[in-house]
Amino acid sequence: ELARRTYGFVGADLAALTREAALEAVRRIMPKLNLAEETIPTEMLDQLSVDTSDFEGALKRVQPSAMREVMVQVPNVGWDDIGGLDEASSRLREGVELPLKHPEAFRRLGIRPAKGFLLYGPPGTGKTLLAKACAREAQANFIATKSSDLLSKWYGESEQQIARLFARARQVAPTVIFFDEIDSLVPARGGGMGEPQVTERVVNTILAEMDGLEELNSVVVIGATNRPNLIDPALLRPGRFDELIYVGTPDTAGRRRILAIHTESMPLASDVDLESLAQRTERFTGADLEDLVRRAGLTALRRGIDEGQVAMSDFEAALHETRASVTAEMEEDYQRIQDTLKSDA
Ligand code: ADP
Repeated sequence: ELARRTYGFVGADLAALTREAALEAVRRIMPKLNLAEETIPTEMLDQLSVDTSDFEGALKRVQPSAMREVMVQVPNVGWDDIGGLDEASSRLREGVELPLKHPEAFRRLGIRPAKGFLLYGPPGTGKTLLAKACAREAQANFIATKSSDLLSKWYGESEQQIARLFARARQVAPTVIFFDEIDSLVPARGGGMGEPQVTERVVNTILAEMDGLEELNSVVVIGATNRPNLIDPALLRPGRFDELIYVGTPDTAGRRRILAIHTESMPLASDVDLESLAQRTERFTGADLEDLVRRAGLTALRRGIDEGQVAMSDFEAALHETRASVTAEMEEDYQRIQDTLKSDA
């Protein structure tokens, strides 16, 4: 069955598939384990075996190398999996989800929805999550790419890759295309990471592709950046990334919600007070909070594998080990950038 379903896979793809299936099995029994830093506790090894569902998961993730360049995904993240970010998500629902779901209504009313959205803010605040949720909730496909990957191609390859990406997006429309690290596509002088000429050609190709997208042909582009002040202004002109959305650190209520999301499948002792944790984690990003929960889980695990519950003391210990990745200065900087971008618009 697996041999039949892996048509077009070369040897290396099949090796990747089995490795991915093994990882799926590990994630299934220990969802929070970070294999880069931790080993599987020996107590858990007995429970570890790879089954059909793990291969199913792996088949979705591993694509044959001939097609690997453009990975079409159907994300499994919805609005409910995102804490805080109410304004950002409602703007995206209106701007992306509605037109993708109801293009005919937009046509009838003669409204032209935006083609490009730019999410900006500190790393780990949920920009990628938001883009995925848009795709998922609009029942659209999701194609993600990183600018640094595009820039590292051989001469002429980047443009071809971008063209393939947009072509594939149209093929499987409705589609959300997600460009991460869009700030690395800065103009020649700006000290971007690619060769100046390459960067310029890449930007021009993206712009040409975006200009060529017909409104309501069901392809939407979402870009993300931590450094919006470095972006090539050509990308921000009307008809391109013309909707700018700030994605900042969550407020107390948002943090409370994010903690609830990430502790959903974690057995918590009755003394765990998420509200108090939310109040004491100012400027923590979603990713920081996720890390906090993971550390608390590991602390509980260290106390004893049969512990079965994560206690408030585990969270306290984890709080000692971590801190917010965003500083007050960084927030001020983003505030200033926000003001500039608003006044330019
Ligand atoms: P960004 O793209 O802004 O750098 P990501 O969306 O990749 O950040 O977030 C990294 C991880 O942190 C997510 O996979 C998720 O587990 C967690 N996370 C970040 N923000 C949130 C949020 N608002 N709600 C829930 N989880 C979050």
